[in-house]
Amino acid sequence: MDFRDSPDEAAFRQEVRDFLAAELPSLARREDDDEAGGGLDRYGAYPEWQRKLAARGWVAPAWPREYGGAGLTVLQQVVFNEEMARARAPRPGGVGVNYAGPTIILHGSDDQKRQHLRPILSGEVIWCQGFSEPEAGSDLAGLQTRAVRDGDDYVVNGQKIWTSGAQFARRMILLARTDPQAPKHKGISYFLLDMKSPGVTIRPLMNMAGVPGFNEVFFDNVRVPRRDLLGEENRGWYYATTTLDFERSSIGAAMAQVNAVEDLVQFARQAGNGGVSSHLRAELGERAVETQTARLLSLRVGTLQARGLVPNYEASCAKLYASELSQRVAVTALRLIGLHGQLGRGSPRAPLAGRLMRGYLWSPAITIAGGTSEIQRGIIAIRGLGLPRG
Ligand SMILES: Cc1cc2nc3c(=O)[nH]c(=O)nc-3n(C[C@H](O)[C@H](O)[C@H](O)COP(=O)(O)OP(=O)(O)OC[C@H]3O[C@@H](n4cnc5c(N)ncnc54)[C@H](O)[C@@H]3O)c2cc1C
Repeated sequence: MDFRDSPDEAAFRQEVRDFLAAELPSLARREDDDEAGGGLDRYGAYPEWQRKLAARGWVAPAWPREYGGAGLTVLQQVVFNEEMARARAPRPGGVGVNYAGPTIILHGSDDQKRQHLRPILSGEVIWCQGFSEPEAGSDLAGLQTRAVRDGDDYVVNGQKIWTSGAQFARRMILLARTDPQAPKHKGISYFLLDMKSPGVTIRPLMNMAGVPGFNEVFFDNVRVPRRDLLGEENRGWYYATTTLDFERSSIGAAMAQVNAVEDLVQFARQAGNGGVSSHLRAELGERAVETQTARLLSLRVGTLQARGLVPNYEASCAKLYASELSQRVAVTALRLIGLHGQLGRGSPRAPLAGRLMRGYLWSPAITIAGGTSEIQRGIIAIRGLGLPRG
């Protein structure tokens, strides 16, 4: 691969950098807006910033222009994501931009497109993802929430869990079983649920960092009008799986680790010559190399997509590596900082405003969310190495 930008990519990179240099400094960041805090940028925390991005199609840069996106090529998306992450700029949109919107664009009716796409871009309507259940996570197709036809409605009963941001969301992409007799992948339908419907109850779940990042959501005879069914009944599994193609390179996650290691290097430099042991210097060096490896694995996914290929085990390699690296970076950070690293936000002696402790407590979640490390390793073994299934 040629790592240099093409002239077009270089010009686009400059355009993004100029925009960020002009607009980002005036944005007042919320202190609790980090992954451990639930990633508030995804939930409409910066309306003015979102408006500026939306004006350029950059809230949803991968969406076609006709729907308010920027229609970027895959490699332009990689450039955009890299520059946004490098500048630590908030990325509004979350589930709405990454899952709900693309799914509606591909499989929704004209009415659904008219109703839902613009409010996603403006941040007016926040979405959450109701896929996982207490007994259905890695084995998602085993989900048990039921939707039963009753006149012009479906009646939904059941429970979802780990629903990030449900407390902010007005809509949910919901998978529910509509045909319990069919093979498990074939009896699932995909709904665009109004979270204000009677019978929806949201209960926050506290994560280890002390933040209600996700929730349990219960459905008690919730009536969902037929117009909120996406596509055809019982085809929900296929809609759910065909839409995860958008931004799967993990380049944002890799760049976040590049930033985190840069922060640590700055901190270590300030500690002076005597302040960092040779062991820790070596450890930091190792992390610095690993962040570049994570970046390269992500770029590999981007280049495959750019050639029209569908990344498969390569995306698992990038996700697995970047997420496990974030845990190693968090451990190195606490070793480097020492006992003060345990102080949280609000303490005057907390280094780097307490981000390290929250990052450390958050980091186990990253190897679970979006498919666990074991699942990624299974994909790499079977599809990448060609090993037989167990
Ligand atoms: C921070 C965070 C946010 C999340 N947000 C959302 C959200 O917004 N919406 C949503 O729907 N879900 C969300 N999830 C849920 C996430 O998708 C699931 O946690 C994940 O898919 C794993 O499912 P599970 O928790 O049921 O674990 P399980 O599938 O029960 O797995 C338990 C353990 O068994 C292992 N295991 C399972 N199957 C296999 C196998 N075949 N081979 C080897 N090992 C296996 C797993 O790796 C794991 O270690 C979130 C999770 C986290 C951590």
